[in-house]
Amino acid sequence: RLILALESSADDTCAAVVSSEREILSNVVLKQDQIHEQYGGIHPLYATQGHMRNISTAISEAIRRSGVAFGELDAIATTEGPGMKGCLQIAMVAAKALVGTSGLPLIGVHHMQAHALTCCLTEQHPPLFPFYTLLCSGGHTMIVDAQDVTRMRVLATTNDDSIGNAFDHAAKLLNIPWAGKAPGAALEGFARAYEHRDEHKVDIESRVQTYRQKLRVPAPSQLMFSYSGLRSAFTRLVDENDAGELTRVALARAFQSAAVAQLADKITLALSRAPVKPSSLVVSGGVASNGYLRERLSRVTSDHGMNIYFPAPALCTDNAAMIAWAAHYKLAKGELADPATLMPRSKWSLEDL
Ligand code: ATP
Ligand code: FE
Repeated sequence: RLILALESSADDTCAAVVSSEREILSNVVLKQDQIHEQYGGIHPLYATQGHMRNISTAISEAIRRSGVAFGELDAIATTEGPGMKGCLQIAMVAAKALVGTSGLPLIGVHHMQAHALTCCLTEQHPPLFPFYTLLCSGGHTMIVDAQDVTRMRVLATTNDDSIGNAFDHAAKLLNIPWAGKAPGAALEGFARAYEHRDEHKVDIESRVQTYRQKLRVPAPSQLMFSYSGLRSAFTRLVDENDAGELTRVALARAFQSAAVAQLADKITLALSRAPVKPSSLVVSGGVASNGYLRERLSRVTSDHGMNIYFPAPALCTDNAAMIAWAAHYKLAKGELADPATLMPRSKWSLEDL
């Protein structure tokens, strides 16, 4: 079976065609990072306007690249939530229009469930339930016990900022050019500067150590995340230091290390409390495309004798292929949406699928 899915919950306008045989026939992502660079974050109104401009191109390109005729599709899916309401509306209205003209069934998808299930689409040997999943994105930082496709229990969430927002803020403070990338990805690239330049290696490393000490902010001892403390500590640290390139590179590395250390600590804590240790950890969301994070968390899981899964970086950030895949589970069970009543849900708990 074939599903065309649309996604516009944040700033990327996405459309994809995915088969029930786990083939990604097309996956179109139209970014608008340049528009938001000047605001240092996603501007809801401009993001909505961007989707308005891009949605029909995203759909026609997804159909064209898939090599599938519209008449061969079995369903249309759209992100139902959570996300920015105005943004969500664009893909949803487009999906309803397609359903209205074609008579195809409509499926509404939970965006974070789709992030969590991406590895079930992409891995040759997909992770088996139950597994733990770490969702680290622009809007969320969560450890979830995934018992099944729809039975998800949130073990930890952030009581203030998300890790993705903290990365975006840090990139802005350090004046790192986004260069068409997500700010977090730009920070990661910047932190790697001088990596192969021996003459600066010792100097940068010793600075990273010093900065890292100063970023040791008290984190909650409970099973919960908090990134506002790190955010303020980092703001102070940037203010106290010069704006030279070596300093900024060392600051970027220290930030990345502190931000990821909290993920590693909380995963370790969650595992120590697990009544039955899960066999795998599935990491997803935009920040999961970070290479440093991947290395660091892989060490944690290998210490626990667990498997770890990451989607390919391009499927960690927002895309419609993951929406289509989550929709396939619903189509198989006949869980369809009514076009007359489906509305965007800006807030929607993963425990309420
Ligand atoms: P949510 O999924 O919670 O609704 P979102 O859809 O806006 O939020 P994603 O697209 O999943 O978020 O992730 C975007 C976030 O990931 C941004 O904060 C971005 O800076 C960050 N990000 C992307 N690539 C990297 C990277 N390589 N390193 C760190 N952060 C990254
Ligand atoms: Fe997302």
